[in-house]
Amino acid sequence: MVKYNNRRFYSLNDYFKDTFEEKIFKVSLDGGFTCPNRDGKVAHGGCIFCSDAGSGDFAGNRRKSITEQIDEQLEFMKDKIKDNKVIAYFQNFTNTYGEVKYLRQIYYEALNHPKVIGLAIGTRPDCIDDDVLQLLEEINQNYFFWLELGLQTIDDKVAKLINRGYDLPVYLNAAKKLKEKNIKFVTHMIIGLPNEEREDILKTAKCIVDSGAWGIKIHSLHIIKGTRLEKLYNEIKFKVFTMEEYVEMVVTILKSLPENMVVHRVTGDGKKEEVVEPLWSLNKRKVLNEIEKELKKREYMQMEDE
Ligand code: SF4
Repeated sequence: MVKYNNRRFYSLNDYFKDTFEEKIFKVSLDGGFTCPNRDGKVAHGGCIFCSDAGSGDFAGNRRKSITEQIDEQLEFMKDKIKDNKVIAYFQNFTNTYGEVKYLRQIYYEALNHPKVIGLAIGTRPDCIDDDVLQLLEEINQNYFFWLELGLQTIDDKVAKLINRGYDLPVYLNAAKKLKEKNIKFVTHMIIGLPNEEREDILKTAKCIVDSGAWGIKIHSLHIIKGTRLEKLYNEIKFKVFTMEEYVEMVVTILKSLPENMVVHRVTGDGKKEEVVEPLWSLNKRKVLNEIEKELKKREYMQMEDE
């Protein structure tokens, strides 16, 4: 039974508890992919914020098999995970960018691991052709599954600036196809991209809801050392939001979501030694506490008004 009604927002942990009646963990895997936005098929160099690890700095080691990566992460997190199950999460680079035969092999290798109860795959909306979609549909019919799409912004001018490599209709079209196949998808957005103000950011969140996404991942922009984003930042010193501004936007977004929309993330994860700005984002605990405080404050204000 879904019990999201009395929650401040419906987190992925809440969803897992409602669906599996236990805490579920994720193990992040590296399927050995690259990205069409890096290898020249769509563009060279990738999105300007993307790290060398393809936006998956905590994923497994690509030189190892999928089973070995899962086992390694299970061992590493054994005190946390205990007897609980895990979702195999293909996180970094573009995890549908390959021959369907290869995709099938690694997805099923993960699904056949005894601790794995489902699969999550991160990809780009321009990398879901009919053959891939058919494979995803097959998996979706037989296993617990979701797909993740990196949209980041609905503003195509900003998308060009960050070299995302596709326009908004590509996302909307992919979302439509996934909805038609009943495949759950999670859309990523970034708060703090160059040239975006609060109202632009709220529009992206609204579009994600309207596109029928099952879940949302909200990231704070991380300016990572050695990326083209760092170069741009040094050249034009675009605005970096303060933590207070970030928290206000996240809470406004959370309050605008449908009550059953699954919130996978409300802030980013960066490596301490690599993040140039915003430095406040490294104190993840504090950011989460401030979001919680702001949510409570708004609830209190709402009660006062009633
Ligand atoms: S689509 Fe993902 S992996 Fe590819 S360059 Fe952009 S952030 Fe990196």
